[in-house]
Amino acid sequence: MRFARYPAEAMDAMPEITRFAPSPTGLLHLGHARAALFAWRRARATGGRFLLRIEDIDTTRCRPEYEAAILEDLHWLGLDWDGTPRKQSEHFAEYRKVLDELAVRGLTYPCFCTRADIAREVADAGAAPQGPDGPLYPGLCRDLPDAEATRRIAAGQPYALRLHMARACEAVTVPLQAHEEGEGWHMCRPEVFGDVVLGRKVVPASYHLCVTHDDALQGVTLVTRGDDLKPAVDVHRLLQALMGWPAPRFAHHALLRDAAGRRLAKRDGAESLRALREKGLSAAEVRAMAEAPQS
Ligand code: GLU
Repeated sequence: MRFARYPAEAMDAMPEITRFAPSPTGLLHLGHARAALFAWRRARATGGRFLLRIEDIDTTRCRPEYEAAILEDLHWLGLDWDGTPRKQSEHFAEYRKVLDELAVRGLTYPCFCTRADIAREVADAGAAPQGPDGPLYPGLCRDLPDAEATRRIAAGQPYALRLHMARACEAVTVPLQAHEEGEGWHMCRPEVFGDVVLGRKVVPASYHLCVTHDDALQGVTLVTRGDDLKPAVDVHRLLQALMGWPAPRFAHHALLRDAAGRRLAKRDGAESLRALREKGLSAAEVRAMAEAPQS
């Protein structure tokens, strides 16, 4: 009996394809274990598939030893995945194709601004409009004549590719909605992000682009992750609609917080799964800590 361990209602649910998509920039901590378990349980409870995706597009920050540690730590926790993990850094050509298509449709433009250019413009403007990720891009390069952009590219000036948000929103003719588990449908407002970056010179494809491309390619039906990434859904639904990719459903879970109420983060030295294991904790104990209810 394949589903014997799961509650009866799960047996009626449609098989979900979920994924855990860590970036190998450090060792996994309890927050990652929580995200992985959340996705794994949903796939296993419905007889679906649980995929592992290594989000290593930022090749300057990702390390092979952390990637190996991810596989080993998940195994130790008792999580198995279906198929071979997808490594994003092996697929830059696929992301490039999407960027080329969006460019041909006039939905992206090259932006030559440095961070300092943007900060100066935002400061000069006084009260710059804020988006979920900080001040909105003030649009300095949005209407650069083609000849000027071509000249700068030919001269080797570094640039990012930005989504022309106004045109992108216009290009979508159906109402843009997203389904969040436990909340239902909401109307998306990607315009609050402004002209997001879809690719840079050093990292040729952005998180938003790769995550939506791969979720579509891999047939992910339920996108699960921590609720810090919930606002990104509106941009993701826009990219999905622009590219004709299917709309997955979303289930964001509460982040694990430390005793002081701060979210766990690698950069703040959150204790790694490996350190907990070396201290002598069992996988079952670590799973229980990772899945502790959060208020
Ligand atoms: N790679 C992202 C992270 O490590 C997660 C992406 C996602 O689940 O959409 O935070």
